[in-house]
Amino acid sequence: MLGSITLIINILESFVMKKNLVKFLVFFGLVFGFYESVYAKSEVNVYSYRQPILINPFFEEFTKLTGIEVNVLHAKKGLLERVLAEGSNTQADLILTVDIARLSQFVQNDLLMEINSNTLTENIPSYLRDSNNKWFALSKRARVLAVSKERVAEDSIKNIEDLADSKWKGKICTRPGSHDYNRSLLASIIAANGEVKAEEWASNLVANLARKPEGNDRAQAKAIHEGVCDIAVMNTYYFGKMKFNEKNPEQKEWAESINIVFTNQDNRGNHINVAGGGVVKYAKNKANAIALLEFLTQSEAQTLYATMNYEYPVNPSVSPSEELNSWGEFKEDKLPVERLAELAPTAQKIIDRVGW
Ligand code: FE
Repeated sequence: MLGSITLIINILESFVMKKNLVKFLVFFGLVFGFYESVYAKSEVNVYSYRQPILINPFFEEFTKLTGIEVNVLHAKKGLLERVLAEGSNTQADLILTVDIARLSQFVQNDLLMEINSNTLTENIPSYLRDSNNKWFALSKRARVLAVSKERVAEDSIKNIEDLADSKWKGKICTRPGSHDYNRSLLASIIAANGEVKAEEWASNLVANLARKPEGNDRAQAKAIHEGVCDIAVMNTYYFGKMKFNEKNPEQKEWAESINIVFTNQDNRGNHINVAGGGVVKYAKNKANAIALLEFLTQSEAQTLYATMNYEYPVNPSVSPSEELNSWGEFKEDKLPVERLAELAPTAQKIIDRVGW
């Protein structure tokens, strides 16, 4: 150590003696650059639509394990526009978002890069990732029926198609059809039954509605609790979020008023949607971004999705939480999630035509 300091002082003296300021500055630049590259902190920048409270525990775990800092920019909307505007200057390495519709917007705008990772392809079944490996699902959410415990007999409704049955006239509540969740659901019905039948279904569903489509998924459970309607469409995790909601205990009552029905169990299975992510084409920390994506598919993180947010793991070797298991095992529609995005524009046209 002392030797190298003496060496540096000698070199400095020789520069100063020769009054060679340029060489002196270059030397200093080299030393400083070397220090920076060795000691620069390893990091990854995430642009996330997912709530911080939900995703931060994952990142803390990742940092503990790898030493890689995770910086998160969280937004409720506008991330696509932001990355588009920032272009190659963007700080974003990894995008995390819910719903296949939003993931595929990033692909359509050519903002994600192809990632070839054995870990990702081994941990995520092929129907839950992009065929060009540009996005990967990290958790699953089932869109199920929520039915009144008091007013809807068990087994009286089994398939999503049954919502079109006139026996439910004035009994159904949903959020607007053009919400991503419902558009994907309709896309799955188009994939199964064709466009003509899907439109018939949507039109009959609208005719059965108890009120104009309004509110979010939880608002439909509230409507069932209040007797406004008997059947609603809902993502599974909201059931857990209501059931254990300490902040808003009235939501526990909403959850207590309903049963969950997994649809289409005797045929294609219940429609599912995903939350997932992809690495930004301009990522400055590509390797770290891939490492984080891979970490999110491993059993520790996959278990967190289930216990913290009542979402289903994508990794088939990871069992859902005890709570999720208590809602019942179910068969899921294994239609490639990618198809949902492809059929979304057709679904939206139907939604507009039938006024859902
Ligand atoms: Fe949601």
